[in-house]
Amino acid sequence: MDLNTIAEIVRPTERREIPAWRAGDAFLAGGTWLFSEPQNRLTRLIDLSTLGRPPLRATDAGLEIAATCTITQLENMSMPALWPVKPLIEQCCNAFLASFKIKNVATVGGNIVMSLPAGPMISLCVALGGELIIWTPDGGTRRALVIGFITGNNRNTLGPGEIVDTIHLPAAALTRRTAFRQISLTNFGRSGALIIGTLDAAGAFALTVTASTPKPYQFRFDALPGADELTARIDGEVAGKWFGDIHGLPAWRRDMTLHFAREIVAELGGGAR
Ligand SMILES: Cc1cc2nc3c(=O)[nH]c(=O)nc-3n(C[C@H](O)[C@H](O)[C@H](O)COP(=O)(O)OP(=O)(O)OC[C@H]3O[C@@H](n4cnc5c(N)ncnc54)[C@H](O)[C@@H]3O)c2cc1C
Repeated sequence: MDLNTIAEIVRPTERREIPAWRAGDAFLAGGTWLFSEPQNRLTRLIDLSTLGRPPLRATDAGLEIAATCTITQLENMSMPALWPVKPLIEQCCNAFLASFKIKNVATVGGNIVMSLPAGPMISLCVALGGELIIWTPDGGTRRALVIGFITGNNRNTLGPGEIVDTIHLPAAALTRRTAFRQISLTNFGRSGALIIGTLDAAGAFALTVTASTPKPYQFRFDALPGADELTARIDGEVAGKWFGDIHGLPAWRRDMTLHFAREIVAELGGGAR
């Protein structure tokens, strides 16, 4: 939709051209959320796409994803053979309630900053130990793990004028085996539960719970847990905090989460799906 309160659009090509933050500003990434509903308090957009950041960079330290990398660019990237997480990346890119028209412009950073429970880039980055590199308005940077950055439904620790620049996924996480489960109440509906398990070479297991909770949770074990231990850990920490809205009731989301958690342990343990 047209945003008819916008009086100015700034298109910086490098960081020093980004204007000082003022009330009524918003950073524009893919614009898929910004242009999807009225934004009557906004008067100026600062377009991040003109910064021209390289979308993806694989190094010995891991994968650097520019916040402005689109979902399609991430989905189509070719990865070093040593990194077996490519299927997980594709599964998360396909977990949007959205067609290719959205995925071609929506960005990884925009999805994380939106901080919706059903944000699949949040699920992916939390499962792979993602860390954000954030530009602060005083010209500095700060780092924040994605799991701590999201504090609730549409809530995070980003301050006024702060920009998510890069998401770093550490190399060690990219070598893990993964298992993915996701469910929506309707075909192509918004995720009601999106659960990811990872297993490292030493046998350590981590379960990432998203979409069924307002913010991500991660449960770590030295080895694959039994069903009772797993259920007790999840219920113990999430009790009373299951997410509920038109896309799924809390009780259903809990049931799906526990069911998928057990399936994931069986899959990574080599058992039947
Ligand atoms: C049809 C449709 C389906 C959708 N399905 C889903 C879904 O399944 N799950 C989901 O989570 N969302 C969904 N969305 C919402 C939205 O499209 C996505 O969250 C998307 O990833 C947002 O990215 P964007 O680049 O388009 O962000 P924008 O719309 O450009 O920005 C979103 C917000 O983040 C801020 N922002 C963006 N990038 C940065 C940055 N680097 N630093 C600081 N602030 C920044 C903006 O100022 C704005 O407040 C859907 C939207 C539509 C229209």
